[in-house]
Amino acid sequence: MGTDWFRPISLEEALELRMTYPDAYLLCGATHLMTQPRTALSQYTRFIDLSRVEQLYGCHTEECVIQVGAAFSYARAADFLASTVPAVAQACRSVGTPQVRNKGTLGGAVALSLPNADLPPALLAVGAEVVLTSTVGSRVLPIEAWVCEPSQTSLQPDEIITALRFPRDQGPQAYHRLGRRAAFCFPEVAAAIAIDATLPSPYVRIAMTVGTGAFRLLHAEQFATEALSMMGTEPPEEIGMEFYGIVEETLAAHSAEIPEVVRTSAAAVAVRTLQEVWSDGDHL
Ligand SMILES: Cc1cc2nc3c(=O)[nH]c(=O)nc-3n(C[C@H](O)[C@H](O)[C@H](O)COP(=O)(O)OP(=O)(O)OC[C@H]3O[C@@H](n4cnc5c(N)ncnc54)[C@H](O)[C@@H]3O)c2cc1C
Repeated sequence: MGTDWFRPISLEEALELRMTYPDAYLLCGATHLMTQPRTALSQYTRFIDLSRVEQLYGCHTEECVIQVGAAFSYARAADFLASTVPAVAQACRSVGTPQVRNKGTLGGAVALSLPNADLPPALLAVGAEVVLTSTVGSRVLPIEAWVCEPSQTSLQPDEIITALRFPRDQGPQAYHRLGRRAAFCFPEVAAAIAIDATLPSPYVRIAMTVGTGAFRLLHAEQFATEALSMMGTEPPEEIGMEFYGIVEETLAAHSAEIPEVVRTSAAAVAVRTLQEVWSDGDHL
């Protein structure tokens, strides 16, 4: 049986192909595709390569939103978002090797939503949105509604991820990860924190992954938000200790399978991230 390899150059062409062949394998940077065993790929007879679709490389800034195309590589996104969405830029810089950062795309990362990947906690903390497009139009989903179950996303068979959207001018943000080999392995633990300073009183959003898929830590968010409003920009040491305990407890409640050593390391990473964000008080 032969293999068809499509390389559309316009979004319209790509969407037509996607609608006609919903069972085709979509690819963009191909970093994930290249690591798949031949047996896993042998079920596909059609491949749609999105890497030449010009519209997927676009970006624009609106009053409240920054939009970047799904074909943005990690390296390009790290530069483009460095001053406006620093938590996402830092997560992009933390990914894999330079080769993966140059070829791997934001759209691919979001489509895969791997449980221990760098990007998901940062996307959750900053309140990112995913733009999905089919031949009938586009829809925008908050990142929290994107992953329905582990390894299951809301992508419909006729849709392509065309862009990611990020709120502008939020406030200080940071991302930190722990991994066995920096810039080579997926993180064992990662934390992202963003202070939304656009609200009447600033709100602290916190998301983590401990290899379980990214999730928000709502109790820790409430604690940090209240502490921020009372303490100002310098977090006293006792706030850090209490925050550490809350994060550890939250992780224990989240999954009994997270070993104690991972919980404590994760709590330490969260405290470090909070301290960095908090002391960056110029933006508040
Ligand atoms: C050696 C190596 C090291 C890595 N290290 C890290 C790491 O440290 N941290 C980390 O987070 N990740 C890491 N990764 C994973 C990497 O981030 C992903 O492979 C990458 O983001 C996928 O993007 P891509 O464009 O290359 O996807 P592709 O391989 O092209 O496609 C992957 C999947 O995404 C889908 N897809 C791609 N684009 C779209 C789109 N626009 N719309 C809909 N579906 C789409 C495809 O259908 C396919 O199923 C590593 C990968 C490798 C190979």
